[in-house]
Amino acid sequence: MRTKLVAGNWKMNKTAAEALQLTDELLNGLRPFPAGVEVAIMPPFPYLMSVAEKIKTTPVKLGAQNCSEHPWGAYTGEVSAPMLKSAGVTYVIIGHSERRQYFGEEGALLAQKTDAALASQLLPVFCCGEPLVVREDNRHFDLVKMQLEEGLFHLPPEAITKVVIAYEPVWAIGTGKTATPAQAQEMHAFIRRQLADKYGNQVAEQVRILYGGSVNAANANSLFACADVDGGLVGGASLKAAEFLQIVRAAGN
Ligand code: PEP
Repeated sequence: MRTKLVAGNWKMNKTAAEALQLTDELLNGLRPFPAGVEVAIMPPFPYLMSVAEKIKTTPVKLGAQNCSEHPWGAYTGEVSAPMLKSAGVTYVIIGHSERRQYFGEEGALLAQKTDAALASQLLPVFCCGEPLVVREDNRHFDLVKMQLEEGLFHLPPEAITKVVIAYEPVWAIGTGKTATPAQAQEMHAFIRRQLADKYGNQVAEQVRILYGGSVNAANANSLFACADVDGGLVGGASLKAAEFLQIVRAAGN
């Protein structure tokens, strides 16, 4: 039985004061903390330690939005996995489509980042998903398969079970367009099949596969009801406490 995970990716939003206020609102709304669903919030780097302090006595987990492939050193502006670990982080997003699109992060680099995260006992949330042209060309399964092979399939079975995969069709991210539950389930089942082919059924059944792409309070129930959808990676809707709380409740249903 996989525990559903709802993770809020705040991206590059909020001032320090606003980040703490949102954290307070979320904690107040979550109490009593729901059983059977895990909640993670992923603020920008500068707020990680102060958010960590607020959530430290709660079951809410802290996530980061990216990490360097290097552990330490002269890499100005970068933040490494050991640093995140020491700041109280549990999850780290690897290969978000915005990192792929705007920062050229692909294939081998994402494999290195995944390794760096795991080496620091962080749990990678590895993102995959196709742009609209690729779906229109009916090449979305091939692309997602390639993204998994390049970024994850070098891992041994005991490591892959620590990874959370987020299927995020690029055409649905921040656009208000959502994959239908049928489209999400179809791709999630495909991803689980790739895991089963590589690692066997028992391993594949343990890996959580989140859906991301304009998840909101209105569509969360139907998406989370899909057999292979194990929660959501939520962008825009995670910036409003009331909406994010409704999404968390949908995962607990
Ligand atoms: C995301 O960026 O991970 C995401 C899913 O964003 P949104 O929910 O805003 O589409």
